[in-house]
Amino acid sequence: MTPPVMAAPPADPAPSPVRPHGQGRACVITRRATFSASHRYWLPELSPEDNQARFGPCSLAPGHGHNYTLIVAMGGALDADGMVLNLSDVKHAIREQVTAQLDFQHLNAAWPEFDLSQPAGMLPTTEALVLGIWRRLAPQLPLMGLRLYETDTLWADVVGDTMEAFLTIRTHFAAAHRLARPELSQEQNEAIYGKCARPHGHGHNYLLDVTVRGAIDPRTGMVCDLAALQQLVDELVVEPFDHTFLNKDVAHFATTVPTAENIALHIADRLATPIAQAGAALHKVRLQESPNNAAEVYAEVPQIGMAPRALEALAAG
Ligand SMILES: [Zn+2]
Ligand SMILES: [Zn+2]
Repeated sequence: MTPPVMAAPPADPAPSPVRPHGQGRACVITRRATFSASHRYWLPELSPEDNQARFGPCSLAPGHGHNYTLIVAMGGALDADGMVLNLSDVKHAIREQVTAQLDFQHLNAAWPEFDLSQPAGMLPTTEALVLGIWRRLAPQLPLMGLRLYETDTLWADVVGDTMEAFLTIRTHFAAAHRLARPELSQEQNEAIYGKCARPHGHGHNYLLDVTVRGAIDPRTGMVCDLAALQQLVDELVVEPFDHTFLNKDVAHFATTVPTAENIALHIADRLATPIAQAGAALHKVRLQESPNNAAEVYAEVPQIGMAPRALEALAAG
């Protein structure tokens, strides 16, 4: 009788040649740069009244300014020196292509794409500006994503040379909640939710980031009407949630435990359709409950198992 054939042990992988510093392995790096610039939202084809109605104080002459912060995410394999790129080359490219051209400048006059006397001219919004920066840096650097902060509460991301951009607004509200399932005893709830189950609740100052995705309008430079977006978030979330006891004051949480996850999901459910009606797509809701915990809901793509995206690298910048 033939003895059973034993599976051969797996061969040892061929010893890899010794490479210094992880040479050849992929890594994403980010670089931050800042500049100050002014702009004015004013379309010559509109009357003064229409410009004022459409762009509010952003239409005032001669303009106003922002301290912009740019985050550049780049990816590639490490070289023999242990770097994706030599940072001095990165700094030089960003200075030459972006900050030297924009710092202390009036954006409407700084780059030809913002010349509104031309039919192809576009207002220098955050999303239009970050797209212009992408087009200037992409030939120089292996870009994965760019984020441009106009303020702490408004920023735009692009991940390619298309008209598509992500626009995020940050706001906040204060609210109390209690984490407990009504069918369970106090003891059982405390076993699950700890101190958060105490009977009279406790509060948080919530930070809310709402990210929308859309095509940049070739004339207004906007993914969507920013004032309208802010108004939607104010009316549908901040106003009904701020200074409330969520379990009692927001009907949804009478039957749903208001964990950060459930609040973020409910905010996404409230906003998705109105934002679609305003011409953009709700991409993400991020709700930060404290400096130590936050919940993120991707409204457009599967949350779990999603591929890492350049946007995540930007968030670390
Ligand atoms: Zn502005
Ligand atoms: Zn809590």
